[in-house]
Amino acid sequence: MNVLVLNSGSSSQKSCLYQIGDTLPQDPPGCIWEGKIEWADGKAEYSIRNSRGVSRKNLPSVGSRAQAIERLLQSLWSGETQAISKPSDIDVVGHRVVHGGPQHFEPTVVTAEVKSAIQSVSVFAPLHNRAELQGMEIVAKLLGPVPQIAVFDTGFHHNMPLAAATYPGPYEWFEQGIRRYGFHGINHQYCAQRAAELLGKNLNSLKLVTCHLGNGCSLAAIRDGRSVDTTMGFTPLEGLMMGTRSGSVDPGVLTYLMRRRHFLDEQLDDVLNKKSGLLGISGISSDMREVLDARRNGTEPAKMARARLALDMYVHRLQSGIGAMVAVLGGADALVFTAGVGENSPEVRGAACDNLAFLGVRLDQEKNAQSPLDKDKDVSAPDAAVRVLLIHAQEDWMIARACWNLLQTATTRVSH
Ligand code: ADP
Repeated sequence: MNVLVLNSGSSSQKSCLYQIGDTLPQDPPGCIWEGKIEWADGKAEYSIRNSRGVSRKNLPSVGSRAQAIERLLQSLWSGETQAISKPSDIDVVGHRVVHGGPQHFEPTVVTAEVKSAIQSVSVFAPLHNRAELQGMEIVAKLLGPVPQIAVFDTGFHHNMPLAAATYPGPYEWFEQGIRRYGFHGINHQYCAQRAAELLGKNLNSLKLVTCHLGNGCSLAAIRDGRSVDTTMGFTPLEGLMMGTRSGSVDPGVLTYLMRRRHFLDEQLDDVLNKKSGLLGISGISSDMREVLDARRNGTEPAKMARARLALDMYVHRLQSGIGAMVAVLGGADALVFTAGVGENSPEVRGAACDNLAFLGVRLDQEKNAQSPLDKDKDVSAPDAAVRVLLIHAQEDWMIARACWNLLQTATTRVSH
């Protein structure tokens, strides 16, 4: 079965094609084709490669965003990076949908009704949900009636206990859908399943804290395979300090900025989402590598001090978040680090685990120092009570698996 996965972001479009046989492999297979567009200053930058090792970058820019995505997908069945002979070789298309709102949480076949539900919650995540709907339209135009499946990043957190999901505002908020949804659910769930495999234990017997540290950052507390708490909330802005996002701040700061500094809602959105976090504090970059480098090798003391503060704050919030998740679980069997920073920064992992010895967290310094991550592994000291695992984020594979499962179930039903 050929499964195409689309991950449509506000400023990027990632896609990949998996070929899956009659049974699901235990380890994630590589993609047979992978394509990405990043938009910067209105220009599309392409990067495409197939499993024969043919890659292309810098295709000439085309007009609209939709045209750029069409060109990316066409390179699957035509031109040098071709991986299949015709569009109809694709059996199913899976979409990462950031916000499913209160109604949608299980992987779902995309129908007009589902699209309108995704549209109706796009006010909660405007940039993402609109890009995802556009991806569905483009697929329908290019591939015709191929089944499309939406997999929701909020889905895994859907059954969080009400005490964790509800904001302590008026109860009407909850009735109006103003509640904590949580995000990064596709990868938190994947990491939980993978952690159970690595530990050789049943997922239903484990207490896990998964730390997704990429450009966006969130933690999840997972008991018996279910998310019981997470740091992101109504939007992906709550919780940890991130690359350009602030994470949690006192809402009083926002009312102060609106009342006394006459901030408009778009300005608030802009400052909290794009000018805060590592970038806002360091004044250097949202990229952890550059912040770490400036702190160590900078030449201006004032810049070095700001880079140091940014890192200290990032780690401080990470530690207090992990502490809160462990408290909610009443202990932990393992801590999982995943995504760009989590997988690749021994320094951030080391600093985050430094104060957690009282919980039984102890790193094997040598294993922790090996970077970049070549394979998923345990980097804790042999006698540590809480294991520390590094797991490569695999959202696309998780989506492909969900598509495969849905299609297999549908086929089995039809053949009975
Ligand atoms: P996204 O959340 O967009 O999927 P990623 O998971 O790819 O992002 O994470 C991107 C971030 O990972 C980058 O901004 C960078 O800060 C961080 N990163 C990547 N490699 C390293 C590294 N070797 N050390 C520290 N941080 C890294």
